[in-house]
Amino acid sequence: MLRDVRRALHVLVAATLYYSGVLALMRFFRRRWLHENGTYVLGFHRVLPESEKRSSNSLPGMILGEAVFVELIDYLQKRMQFIALETLMKDSLGSGNPEKPPCLITFDDAWIDTGARAVPLLRQRQAPAALFVPTGLVGKQEGFWVEQLVGAWKDPTSRARLAPLIERVPLTKGRDGEINEIVQWLLHMPAQNRQSVLEGVLPPGSQNGHGNVDAIMSWEQLARIKDQGIEIGGHTVTHPLLTYEDDETVNGELRIGKQALEQKLGTHVLAFAYPNGDVNRHVRERVIQTGYACAFTTEPRCHGENGDKYLIPRFMLHDGNVTGLRGKFSPAMLNLTLAGWA
Ligand SMILES: [Zn+2]
Repeated sequence: MLRDVRRALHVLVAATLYYSGVLALMRFFRRRWLHENGTYVLGFHRVLPESEKRSSNSLPGMILGEAVFVELIDYLQKRMQFIALETLMKDSLGSGNPEKPPCLITFDDAWIDTGARAVPLLRQRQAPAALFVPTGLVGKQEGFWVEQLVGAWKDPTSRARLAPLIERVPLTKGRDGEINEIVQWLLHMPAQNRQSVLEGVLPPGSQNGHGNVDAIMSWEQLARIKDQGIEIGGHTVTHPLLTYEDDETVNGELRIGKQALEQKLGTHVLAFAYPNGDVNRHVRERVIQTGYACAFTTEPRCHGENGDKYLIPRFMLHDGNVTGLRGKFSPAMLNLTLAGWA
């Protein structure tokens, strides 16, 4: 209930600022007088039609409806200039049309729908994109540990097994709901600790029980979209939050992930995305040493021309920050999100 009220207020604020012209004025002011001529880098995870949304075990913050994605891309194509990763790395953005700021589309994790849904829609519109792949999860049918956990949570028989885990989580009964809090708690720890917690509570060989809607693309599927022009970037091997891992693990995750992509896909891998945008000075250094030319975070702001190439910010988009109360694409919500106010 409280969550619904909060969301209604959020949508109301977006509509007020957008339709009064305040957001447009702010953008104009920033670009003209503060010379903030940055690139909008957008980050997506999953693009799902309504039927697959219902059967997916991914959390709502990962998902964008397919119809919303289409409207969003068509809206942006009229107002921004879609660029390839290569262009972002060339430092030559100043020459572009100031009325149409550059925009780079990126995807994380290589979900099956990125190849099946999003890429064909982008190709029809000749919009380039980059995809960040955790190599150890390629071809996995049941998604990440999050989808397995949510699957167990939704199923009354396996939910009972989660009781010892739930007892350990300091639940605040906050706005995000219990399962979100459990996921967040498990996320912010070394992967080895998480694995030992989950081994005890998830049914062995846990499947989500809904076909392969939460599958990760296979190497063959990745090769196909690479040949279609999608730029492939690194995203570690097993997708740990790198700031929680020791030096040896960080080095291995970075090096082995890059090598696997280069060997399997025969491409030079230059870009990296930090899992969950999680980075500190040490991790950034290791990314440079691994031979990456740039790296992306999830900090929601534009990437300035002289911005740090190893801390390129991204606006992560999902239904919650680009749709209105009826779940349809909302230009007001999108513009509020891109103003960094969401
Ligand atoms: Zn990821």
